[in-house]
Amino acid sequence: MLMSEDSVKVAVRIRPLVRTEIERGCQTCLDVIPGESQIVICNTTKSFTFNYVFSPDVSQEEFYNTAVKNMVKNIFQGKLCLVITSYNVTILAYGQTGSGKTHSMGTNYVEAENMGVIPRAVNDIFDMILSKEDWNFKVTVSFMELYQEQLYDLLTDKQRNQSIVDIRDDGKNIKIAGLVEKEVKNATETLDCLTQGSIGRATGATAMNAQSSRSHAIFTLCIYQHKKDDLNTATTAKFHLVDLAGSERSKKTQATGERFKEGVNINKGLLALGNVISQLGEGDPTAYVGYRDSKLTRLLQDSLGGNSITLMIACVSPAVFNTNVLDYNLDETLSTLRYADRACKI
Ligand code: ADP
Ligand code: MG
Repeated sequence: MLMSEDSVKVAVRIRPLVRTEIERGCQTCLDVIPGESQIVICNTTKSFTFNYVFSPDVSQEEFYNTAVKNMVKNIFQGKLCLVITSYNVTILAYGQTGSGKTHSMGTNYVEAENMGVIPRAVNDIFDMILSKEDWNFKVTVSFMELYQEQLYDLLTDKQRNQSIVDIRDDGKNIKIAGLVEKEVKNATETLDCLTQGSIGRATGATAMNAQSSRSHAIFTLCIYQHKKDDLNTATTAKFHLVDLAGSERSKKTQATGERFKEGVNINKGLLALGNVISQLGEGDPTAYVGYRDSKLTRLLQDSLGGNSITLMIACVSPAVFNTNVLDYNLDETLSTLRYADRACKI
């Protein structure tokens, strides 16, 4: 069993000001204390400490190498599988729309130095597979979108309204009935699935007159491995990479009708996730954990807590119009930092 203090880590990443913000004269309201993983709200005494804090100048490569690479290595080093036969790694990107979740995760695959977490992790996984010649591997990919408590398969050839899948829960493992789990042989095939699913996600959102920022995107790799000629060494690792829906609250968008329903459902998943992570952090193995409160937490039930390690990437924008006034953006940034802080209280 993993110790609870190892099981959830929180990395806060501050994005740089984007061009339109610079043009509109926005300023930065966040400071990082170097070497202390601490973030300070300018002109206040408010500060928060996390496992990692990344300032706007940190590259995709540095971010991945510092916060993620070791988690990926754990899948192979067998560090966790001496006593168990399956363990899971979950990486979640949280934050308001425009804060850098998709950029950090690399959900919309881009090549070269701007690659986010998903393609870097996929490349590392297949490099490690190649280097372990005395082991057999099978890797499958699935990609789902969770929108208004409805799960869509992003890798199916079916029409959007036919692509709905559902969670089956046998008490121990989470299974998604009818979900495409595509076997992949290399990084290119895996990243093709990422691209295909991301296009499907955007198209689906347009067809429903919605925004993909209101849905959760869940990219999952299952890695089955065993030593050649020794099935006793078999393990399964589930690796979830989740680009969460925007965390902004519905009151800001003055949501009504359908949009309001969206807001409520999204908050339900993010709220339940926050509760689950904080309940896990209390470290009482007999305590009630509210996995069943949303589809997001049901889906991740076997990948949060227990034999799992989780990284929450809390993405924040530093932009404000005036550092002396509590403006809307700072309000959302503070809300993200509080959410992350709750996850970190372990
Ligand atoms: P989200 O997915 O949270 O809505 P995005 O990832 O789409 O946000 O980011 C919003 C904008 O900010 C995009 O134009 C993106 O390229 C830019 N951006 C986000 N994070 C960074 C970063 N660390 N460095 C440079 N640009 C970034
Ligand atoms: Mg996004």
